[in-house]
Amino acid sequence: MALDAETFDALIDTIRRFVAERLRPLEADVEAQDAIPDDVTQEMKAMGLFGLSIAEEYGGLGLTMLEEVKVAIELGRTTPAFRSSFGTNVGIGSQGLVMAGSPEQKAEWLPKIASGEIITSFALTEPDVGSDSGAVKTKAVWDGQAYRLSGTKRFITNADKADLFTVMARTGDEPGGRGVSAFLVPRDLAGVSIGESEKKMGQKGAKVADVIFDEVVVPVENRLGAEGEGFKIAMRVLDRGRLHISAVCVGVAERLIADCVAYASERKQFGKPIAEHQLIQAMIADSKTEALAARALVLETAAAKDEGKDVVMESAAAKYFASEMVGRVADRAVQIYGGAGYIADYGIERLYRDVRLFRIYEGTSQIQQLIIARETLKRGG
Ligand SMILES: Cc1cc2nc3c(=O)[nH]c(=O)nc-3n(C[C@H](O)[C@H](O)[C@H](O)COP(=O)(O)OP(=O)(O)OC[C@H]3O[C@@H](n4cnc5c(N)ncnc54)[C@H](O)[C@@H]3O)c2cc1C
Repeated sequence: MALDAETFDALIDTIRRFVAERLRPLEADVEAQDAIPDDVTQEMKAMGLFGLSIAEEYGGLGLTMLEEVKVAIELGRTTPAFRSSFGTNVGIGSQGLVMAGSPEQKAEWLPKIASGEIITSFALTEPDVGSDSGAVKTKAVWDGQAYRLSGTKRFITNADKADLFTVMARTGDEPGGRGVSAFLVPRDLAGVSIGESEKKMGQKGAKVADVIFDEVVVPVENRLGAEGEGFKIAMRVLDRGRLHISAVCVGVAERLIADCVAYASERKQFGKPIAEHQLIQAMIADSKTEALAARALVLETAAAKDEGKDVVMESAAAKYFASEMVGRVADRAVQIYGGAGYIADYGIERLYRDVRLFRIYEGTSQIQQLIIARETLKRGG
């Protein structure tokens, strides 16, 4: 259910100020420490950010998709690691439960996810299984009393601090996605272990690691949906997640454009601010045009999703366009800053590295192209 306009405007205003006054001054520290300060995490919990997408009856804010993408755009105006720290609770870590959980599963977990008391992760990718995610090898074998879960999941966001994993594992002999089921696996079950956090190109402060399951005994009550539905659940979760990520891309692009305008208005060459050179203006115009187009696509798709329309194609198109767009905007930003764009102190090279991930996770650009083409061919245009 949508918030009333006044409450939602107040929320946006609070987040905007929080991003500008609290988070942006910490960006260099987060990069240097590769960690989000604990007090900031507590403040984000108090603001309800961990429960943006979870219904009010479970203690969340219960935002519509349109409201959520508007919030994600605001959060995009700072280092994406801040958003990532609660991004799994809002998106891929909770939405399987929201979409396919039983009333008992929801009552047990959603209030703790919404408050940030526990952290959730989504475990689909494996060492040999990435884009072809229906081919998961992790197995959950029924032994007559419970499932025995074994396998390794790779590049799992927030695994270092997760309390609960949504795990896609093979339960049947059916080929591809049809043999895959989804499970809620608490971190404290015997046989669950977490690898070392990976060193990454960017988004310092957001961690990914392997999650290893070694003969973990998982009760049937922890299965999400029926056997064989896990891949479908995962795809629905990602479909929704793509819109959120697209919105973050729009936010980062808008921030970069504002930074470029400020820098170009200040920096003088050939006796005038570089903003007065038309070749700089052309770059600003291209970035602005693309960011506006992405914003419109994201907002329109989110509104259509709220109306119950099938937006599989549009969500993929939004993710594809917005993630590629912010890459081009970041590249132009480095160019507009000149040498300073390459130097860490100015923060532009950091965002340039940060945004590279958006073209890869939750489905690479190539996978989005395949989805867009498949759905367009299916629809006949
Ligand atoms: C920082 C980070 C966080 C992540 N977080 C999570 C997470 O929380 N949970 C999770 O489950 N996963 C997560 N991932 C994994 C991510 O979703 C995968 O990396 C991504 O889906 C791509 O899979 P891959 O890395 O195995 O690449 P591959 O699938 O091996 O792809 C390699 C290249 O081949 C291309 N390719 C593959 N198939 C085709 C095709 N049919 N046609 C054309 N080109 C193709 C790809 O587009 C890519 O360019 C994360 C990854 C990173 C880096």
